[in-house]
Amino acid sequence: MIVVQTIEDLRKFRREAAGKSLGLVPTMGFLHDGHISLVKRARAENEKVGVSIFVNPAQFNDPTDLAAYPKDIEKDLAMLRAEGVDLVWTPAPETVYPAGFQTHVAVGEITRQLEGAARPGHFQGVTTVVAKLFNLFQPQRAYFGQKDAQQLAVIRQMVLDLNIDTEVIGCPIVREGDGLAMSSRNALLSAEARGQATCLYQALCAARTAVDDGERNAEVLKQMMRQIIDRAALAKVDYISIADRRSLIELQQIDAGALISLAVFLGEVRLIDNLVIETELPRETL
Ligand code: AMP
Repeated sequence: MIVVQTIEDLRKFRREAAGKSLGLVPTMGFLHDGHISLVKRARAENEKVGVSIFVNPAQFNDPTDLAAYPKDIEKDLAMLRAEGVDLVWTPAPETVYPAGFQTHVAVGEITRQLEGAARPGHFQGVTTVVAKLFNLFQPQRAYFGQKDAQQLAVIRQMVLDLNIDTEVIGCPIVREGDGLAMSSRNALLSAEARGQATCLYQALCAARTAVDDGERNAEVLKQMMRQIIDRAALAKVDYISIADRRSLIELQQIDAGALISLAVFLGEVRLIDNLVIETELPRETL
């Protein structure tokens, strides 16, 4: 496995692997089994696997969040080496955004709700850096987690709109034994907050059970989820959403599936999670 920092070294690697399929896994580091599931899939499906580790300042709307983001590059590299990754790119911020940088990629409608509403500028930061990664790595396939459901949808839209010749592959959410979605940010939770952080998954599961039992009213479902979160003393809801799976526009009624997603502060740490539900088509449309 080679580890490079510069644009030149990355381009050299890609030139030498010309004609070979490449799978890219973009990350911000502090890797866990969620990231590794993406790497394993990339390893299985491509001749070459590239991973980027870059805590992208442009996608942080809160400087304290950026400063607190956990790092352990040596451990990350050991994990990637064990997975047979070919190249890891760990650029400095000034390599990605040199002085004079002034071009941004901004996706429209689908970035306005949910994370886009809660974190102004976040998705422009994401799409700008991912567009750069796609230009540099020229990947046949790029792997993203369903954990960041809106990010996955936004990147699919960008690839479609800009005719980028990369297949975007969404991978399922990897969870801890108690249901908490794995996240680099989990390491920032106090012991007490970590204990209570299961409330996100509990709320999602309760919503799914209610839908299975026939509840279709989004307000009722959201209210039920909020009550579950509110039982955790350290938890504060940022948003709870029941939205159309493709447009991400809020639904009043679940007719043919939905993306149920939520963002919750556990103390200072903001966690997100989601669940896609499929329902039977309503009887009248059959
Ligand atoms: P991050 O380092 O948080 O930017 O995440 C890098 C990639 O890993 C993104 O595509 C995430 O959606 C994905 N990812 C993060 N956590 C998980 C998880 N628990 N399960 C699956 N994928 C994940």
